[in-house]
Amino acid sequence: MDLANFSDGRGICFYSDRQDGDAGSDYVGYELSRYSSLYACIGDLIGRSSGFEVLKASQCHSSTVVEASMLWRDPPKADGIYSTEATLIPTVMVADCVPIGLYSKSGGITAAIHAGWRGLTAGVVENAVDLIERESGVNDIEAVIGPHICSSCYEFVGPESLEVVRAFGEDCFVGEGCNYLDLSACIEKIFDTKGVTKIFEEKDCTLCSGRFFSYRGGDTTQRIILGVGVVGE
Ligand SMILES: [Zn+2]
Repeated sequence: MDLANFSDGRGICFYSDRQDGDAGSDYVGYELSRYSSLYACIGDLIGRSSGFEVLKASQCHSSTVVEASMLWRDPPKADGIYSTEATLIPTVMVADCVPIGLYSKSGGITAAIHAGWRGLTAGVVENAVDLIERESGVNDIEAVIGPHICSSCYEFVGPESLEVVRAFGEDCFVGEGCNYLDLSACIEKIFDTKGVTKIFEEKDCTLCSGRFFSYRGGDTTQRIILGVGVVGE
């Protein structure tokens, strides 16, 4: 498990790697199993051994962001979860798409976002930022960009590239013939517009570093998770 600390020393963003195994198989419905080693590991990081839940949504490349709740019947269809309670920890699962952790220290609000090109062009990051700001009443959001496919590995051609150009501009495409998409550059543009401070980005690519699971690299079912928690008082 990797860890990045937000600036107040209480908010943390964690993400798993290949050695932690397929995180997707550790969830029962929308909750991470309390008997999984990942649950114990997250508990160690936030200083709790029990009394917390690790939640995920049913991801569908949408712009939908929901508030974490123990009242869900099934995992809601969404690609972002935010939480106002330290005992409800939002997570997302990825293998090449970008996982993003957000944190508002004044509001103690945490969020995890699953962002591929579809979600990014649809506005999933903006939606999450707007919801957090509405809850906290201030604009103090910090962000961690987790492991994702790098621009050297992410060939992106076809009609959908026009959609991305329209949303983020041609300079998000790199390489020979500009056929490679830099997802992180798209996200930086959103952060600039929305006044979000990036505090850390994992630079090891899911495909070419070998450290994480990669859908394009053949890991079609395995996923890593990224989540945001607050260290218990
Ligand atoms: Zn790469």
